Amino acid sequence: STYTYLFYIPTEPSMTIRQLRNYIDGRFEDGATTFDKHSPVDGRLIAQVHEAGRDQVDRAVAAAHRALPAWAGLPVAARTDHLLALADGITRRFDDFLQAEIGDTGKPVGWAGKIDIPRGAANFRVFAELARTLDMESYMTDTPDGRQALNYAYRKPLGVVGVISPWNLPLLLLTWKVAPALAFGNTVIMKPSEVTPSTATLLAEVAHEAGLPAGVLNLAHGFGPDSAGEFMTTHPDIDGITFTGESATGAAIMRAVAPGVKPVSFELGGKNAALVFADADFEAAVDGVTQSVFANCGQVCLCTERVYVERPIYERFVAALAERARALRIGWPMDPATEMGPLVSREHREKVLSYFALARAEGATVVAGGGVPVFGDARDQGAYVEPTIWTGLAEDARCIKEEVFGPVCHVTPFDTEDEAIRLANDTRYGLAAAVWTQNLTRGHRVAQAMKVGLAWVNCWFLRDLRTPFGGSGLSGIGREGGRHSLHFYTEPTNVCIKL
Ligand code: NAD
Repeated sequence: STYTYLFYIPTEPSMTIRQLRNYIDGRFEDGATTFDKHSPVDGRLIAQVHEAGRDQVDRAVAAAHRALPAWAGLPVAARTDHLLALADGITRRFDDFLQAEIGDTGKPVGWAGKIDIPRGAANFRVFAELARTLDMESYMTDTPDGRQALNYAYRKPLGVVGVISPWNLPLLLLTWKVAPALAFGNTVIMKPSEVTPSTATLLAEVAHEAGLPAGVLNLAHGFGPDSAGEFMTTHPDIDGITFTGESATGAAIMRAVAPGVKPVSFELGGKNAALVFADADFEAAVDGVTQSVFANCGQVCLCTERVYVERPIYERFVAALAERARALRIGWPMDPATEMGPLVSREHREKVLSYFALARAEGATVVAGGGVPVFGDARDQGAYVEPTIWTGLAEDARCIKEEVFGPVCHVTPFDTEDEAIRLANDTRYGLAAAVWTQNLTRGHRVAQAMKVGLAWVNCWFLRDLRTPFGGSGLSGIGREGGRHSLHFYTEPTNVCIKL
């Protein structure tokens, strides 16, 4: 159909493959080598990415240091005007960003157009606003001689910040870190995931077009080990690393920064629970859990992979969820009717399918999905899987313990509130949970008992960007969001004045 041609031009000889370059000290640069980026929709080559060498990362860090004093010294209004210009630049090139994000990820236009790109712009606006209205921590202190002292915490930028981001919400999660870093006066080297390099390149173009001073925002493309990621985390002159991605990668980054005792901010994986009580608004709970399991093909760190349902409504709930899963429209990303696109890559599909096989081996009942859809067209070269629901696994099964990061959940019955809390908290992750109940007191009580950074009651993914975001355990270190971001992106100097 026509809309697929907007983006997925079939292999025509004239088709141009985009070249995605590094952006260092205000200039776009080729890399020493390139790697190929393929579409997860139909497998065709869509871009060649210029991998930054160690010398290029070195030059990016040096440029960021040179740019730092002037950037940090700008009046807040001038600095935040730059951020607003970046937000405007994203909005002005909305369609470019949308097509680039969809091209890299295959995510449906309905999702990317409502979530990824608008939030990319909003992140700059929110942190510009925050930087403009920030207050300062201060105390009047009684002194032993009967007089007083004034203490205030003067906050300075952390310095040159390395931002390393994942492929699932590429622009959204990149800007979630770039925006506060810049707002509070830091300069940045950003490294997007090698799987989704396009919107970061567009962001560098927007920064260039908007006249952001050279060296303030640099872009290095590449992989993790023995590539741009590792060159950044082991660099002696980077002052801190803020990272979103897998827990095992977070552990590797911690080891890499340990010799320099660099601060880290980590937003890592999850194995998030939804708790559905018998007194929940049934339809709202089915809707909400369908969203939280299958949104973005299950590739949101906040997605639900474990569902616990109170026994009186268990059978009915599983049946309703399975019906919703089977009815999800899997399709071309540019079709506005599409509700689920492919996974991000064939490689990631191998991982998800390995869990589909493992679940069967561990004794799961496959209530819905469990396989690969067949389209009979170019999408069969893509990375699609079916929305999948399991029941019947023991709570210590690997499929209940390990993050799959695909459109899949397991549903377990429970009998008491205490049991539900215990099951939900029986994980080494600690990112998010959703509680579905009409009982207000129970909603508060259970949400507060969740061992997570984010607990929702009767909703999911509803975000106020001023609130603390992050998790504990294998899910991360620290919180970002609103003034919580200050703690990572600034260093306070406490000034004590005897009065
Ligand atoms: P990943 O850890 O494989 O990669 C993330 C980034 O780290 C990429 O840019 C990658 O190139 C880089 N990287 C990999 N190894 C590195 C190394 N040794 N040194 C430096 N950099 C390295 O993660 P992913 O597969 O891109 O993303 C999916 C994961 O991210 C899931 O586990 C998901 O739960 C998690 N996630 C968490 C949050 C959150 O806010 N908590 C948000 C989104 C995704």
